[in-house]
Amino acid sequence: MSFRVSLAVTLAAALVISFFALLFRRPAMALPALAFALAGAALARLSIRGATGGASRGDGGAASPESKTTTRATQSAKAAARAAAQAEIIPAGELVETMMNSMREGMLVVDGDLRVMASNAAARDIFGFDGGGTAGGRMRPRLDELTRNPAVLSAYLDAIERGERVEVKVEMTDAERQVFDLRVAPLQGREGAAQEAGAARGAVGVFFDITRLERLERVRQEFLSNVSHELRTPLTAIRTFVETLEDGALEDADNNRRFLSIIDRNAARMHSLIDDILELSAIEAGTAKFEARPVGLRAMIADVLTALAARAAERGVALRNEVGEDVIVHADARRLEQMLTNLCDNAIKFNAQGGAVVVAHESAPGRDRISVSDTGEGIAPAHIPRIFERFYRVDRARSRALGGTGLGLAIVKHLARAHGGQATVRSIPGEGSTFTIELPHSGKAEYR
Ligand code: ADP
Repeated sequence: MSFRVSLAVTLAAALVISFFALLFRRPAMALPALAFALAGAALARLSIRGATGGASRGDGGAASPESKTTTRATQSAKAAARAAAQAEIIPAGELVETMMNSMREGMLVVDGDLRVMASNAAARDIFGFDGGGTAGGRMRPRLDELTRNPAVLSAYLDAIERGERVEVKVEMTDAERQVFDLRVAPLQGREGAAQEAGAARGAVGVFFDITRLERLERVRQEFLSNVSHELRTPLTAIRTFVETLEDGALEDADNNRRFLSIIDRNAARMHSLIDDILELSAIEAGTAKFEARPVGLRAMIADVLTALAARAAERGVALRNEVGEDVIVHADARRLEQMLTNLCDNAIKFNAQGGAVVVAHESAPGRDRISVSDTGEGIAPAHIPRIFERFYRVDRARSRALGGTGLGLAIVKHLARAHGGQATVRSIPGEGSTFTIELPHSGKAEYR
């Protein structure tokens, strides 16, 4: 293929891709294709200029000394040979195929009989078939052999039979559940070709994978409904006791103070819930600032345990700081204190009367491990995989009664990750639990 012909084919292919991409409103795909088409057009223009410029310079050169003309002619001949060689390096077909295969979206083209005419790698992944056969035209499967999914089949059939664009959401459950936004456009073919009125000669479908988006949307909705539910409970209590006071309990010297303290407790619960939500969303959004510095661990744990001492004393729980004097870890001090407070607070809350909480440190290759162990009721294996989820609680009523928000462990998990580490748990029901925070020695604080 000559340079000009292959350039023209390449440009046409890039323009077709950008047209389809624009048709499906996919700027991520349209822009590179358009940029490629424009760059190609510029190259074509340059090569034409080079050719005519070379010719005119050659003509003008006739008046110049002969040796100069010969040098220029040789140069332009060399340039033309280089351009032609470059054009041959990437044949147009290969270029289009590479571009199609580098798309994340699946693209599947069928003829009027639903036989696959072309597909890209993403589409072959979705339908689990090998492209080798289709490329050579030896074995072209039909779409209804590739999938029995009624939504996919009827989208293609509608596009072919009615000659209209179709957009549907399809769910594929073959190996794992995947959700796609499928857009199918009819291919009308040449004018005057024998075909039924309104019918197309084929259709091109693009499969946008929206599985992750859907999951995120579900998580967001669950979070919103959890937050509303968690806020409504203390709010209802506050309103009920305010009404009771208004209805006369204000004068009831035996109960008015008790009612006020219930209102105060519920307001405090709402306050800590909102604090935790804001904290969590700042960490998740990456807007929370982290400054990892060397921290003396023993002194920090001593402070945390002192702050919780009254609570531990109420339950007769002994607090033990077993961290060595000279242990230094790399962390954002405020965030590390917050993680340790959440874990120690839980270890006290869920402990047995007269139990113990032990905080210890161990150095592993490249990491520090800080563990908080208790002698409480432990956590059944069924709950372990979900225990760090937001609002997940083994016993919701009990957590509330103990003043919990259900966000403490989620905050620990996200803060540990923000330090480049992780939070884990081991637990034996009836014997107790050990929560561990792992922090890298480098103290690399970044949210991932
Ligand atoms: P909260 O403590 O506010 O309920 P968390 O996110 O801190 O929320 O903890 C979630 C749940 O994990 C708790 O409700 C409890 O069921 C369980 N849990 C956490 N720490 C412990 C522990 N040390 N021992 C037993 N269960 C625990």
